[in-house]
Amino acid sequence: MEQPKISEIRGMVVIADIPPGYTVSGNEMVLVGEDKLVGEVVRIFRRGDRVRVYIQVYEDTTGLMVGEPVYLTGKPLTVELGPGILNNFFDGIQRPLEIIKKVSGIFIRRGVQAKPLDRSRKRDVEIKVKEGDKIGPGSVIAEVPETSRIKHLIMVPPNYPEGTVKRVAGDGKYTIEDVIVTYEANGKEYELKLYHRRPVRRARPFLKRYPSEMPLITGQRVLDTFFPLAKGGTAASPGGFGTGKTVLQHQLAKRSDADVVVMVACGERGNEATEVVETFPELVDPRTGKPLMERTVLIVNTSNMPVAAREASIYTGVTIAEYYRDMGYDVLLLADSTSRRAEALREISSRLEEMPGEEGFPAYLASRLAQFYERAGRVQTLSGRVGSVSIVGAVSPQGSDFSEPVTQNTLKVVKVFRALSKKLAERRHYPAVDRLMSYSLYVDALKPYYRKIAPDYPEIRDEAMKILELEAELMDIVKIVGKDALSEPQKAILATGRLIREGFLQQNAFHEIDSYCPLEKQYRILKTIMTFYHEALRYIKAGGRVDNLERSEVYGRILRLKFVENERVAQEAQAIINELRKMVESIVASARASLSSLSVFVHV
Ligand code: ADP
Ligand code: MG
Repeated sequence: MEQPKISEIRGMVVIADIPPGYTVSGNEMVLVGEDKLVGEVVRIFRRGDRVRVYIQVYEDTTGLMVGEPVYLTGKPLTVELGPGILNNFFDGIQRPLEIIKKVSGIFIRRGVQAKPLDRSRKRDVEIKVKEGDKIGPGSVIAEVPETSRIKHLIMVPPNYPEGTVKRVAGDGKYTIEDVIVTYEANGKEYELKLYHRRPVRRARPFLKRYPSEMPLITGQRVLDTFFPLAKGGTAASPGGFGTGKTVLQHQLAKRSDADVVVMVACGERGNEATEVVETFPELVDPRTGKPLMERTVLIVNTSNMPVAAREASIYTGVTIAEYYRDMGYDVLLLADSTSRRAEALREISSRLEEMPGEEGFPAYLASRLAQFYERAGRVQTLSGRVGSVSIVGAVSPQGSDFSEPVTQNTLKVVKVFRALSKKLAERRHYPAVDRLMSYSLYVDALKPYYRKIAPDYPEIRDEAMKILELEAELMDIVKIVGKDALSEPQKAILATGRLIREGFLQQNAFHEIDSYCPLEKQYRILKTIMTFYHEALRYIKAGGRVDNLERSEVYGRILRLKFVENERVAQEAQAIINELRKMVESIVASARASLSSLSVFVHV
């Protein structure tokens, strides 16, 4: 039979003619050219028995020639799911970066056919079923300690039938290619190994969705207290260049209380991706003392990798995330940045000569973004466990213009919006989350959880939020008429607003203590600040001036409370409040004294 051949090359899109006799389907994976570059069919044209396909190629196409062969695989683009994903680096189509580094340097060479998961490594396997057991999709057949903190459950893949176990291998050491369980269904035998393949564009099935009631705790005050994300929820942080998107994503990767973190990184700056690959393996999880990579998988697109791979990397990432969710883990998927992926879509779309939509993005941009975020959720898995995938995407709008299509369409689907402000970043207020523009739709659902930390936590949060709004209004007035025109209670709002902004919201990712702030400490700091506010009002009533409070030693101590070690915070907060009350009491007492001397005078 005549071989399908390349008839035209348009950068990363290759057009091929498929001779009669072949069947080809949309999203089929194909291997392009002598080097067998990985690609995916994105469009099919049929005219009579002539079939012409457009292929999106995930590797560098320079040097590719018209007339070179194209191989159909009959399968969609898939990823390998099994032990060996964690503590590893992959490119957008799941080729392992480490191995390729050995073969062709730090950059990935074209057509390198490295298998995603290590074939030679033997792993300890504990078999969980015996002959005669009934099994079906989601049944756990074995356990493998993948890393020191993640027990990898080997499950019957979703698309397999229900049946009866025929043969099992004993507990022992196996490679991922060894058959560990054989079972029979409808008179047919199925062999199960430690891994299976799964199409990336199809969501992994589950039994049902659960509501969001647990926060993903990040240790970042502005996120946890003001704009929290629920486990299984979706969040986006749009921000222009330099507003701290990547630092924030890295903080989440390092600090959040997810069991497994899948990080899809685009490397917007020259060395960023390489830096991640080099620095992450050295990081230790401060909570467990174990290497952070033991719960992490990094999917990296360096700037010299073709843009089409970015589109694939998002799907590869979310498919891996769903797989660990099915084991009953809370998984966090980080994508930095989804704009780069949207730009890939735009470029591919223009090569396909599709009708461009807003700002040249294809009309299906909105649905693609929605499809991606919809794969988040807290669910009951096929095995009956509860697991979650939370998705946090960074968006990088050109020039911080949030009206552009990627930001707008993302806003429509995510439940937490953390806008990063250029102005705050310029003032080096990090994380540069704009308090007035951002929101979280999980605040109410998470209230019961926060009340367990402290019964009045939600009220303290709302009150602090209110102060920030009032402060912003007053600042506008101050700009026009100056601070002296304000009343003392208004000055108390400004003094408290500053405490909230500088003593609470600002958080230094690179400070040993400040980098991570437990919820108890977050509450304690904010409670102290709000106590300051109420004491200040009493102080004013007794005739005191807010200036005096602002200049006092106590004010500085409140600002520095975030740098106090976790164990000492409660004690220091109490000391601050005692001191503050003493100041207020003394002025109240002297006010009373002068009032009574006044009354003595009157009586005389
Ligand atoms: P973006 O990815 O939005 O372009 P980055 O995340 O690379 O921006 O941040 C740019 C710089 O801002 C960082 O190199 C760092 O100096 C500073 N920065 C950002 N966030 C923080 C933070 N939480 N604490 C301290 N510095 C920060
Ligand atoms: Mg960045």
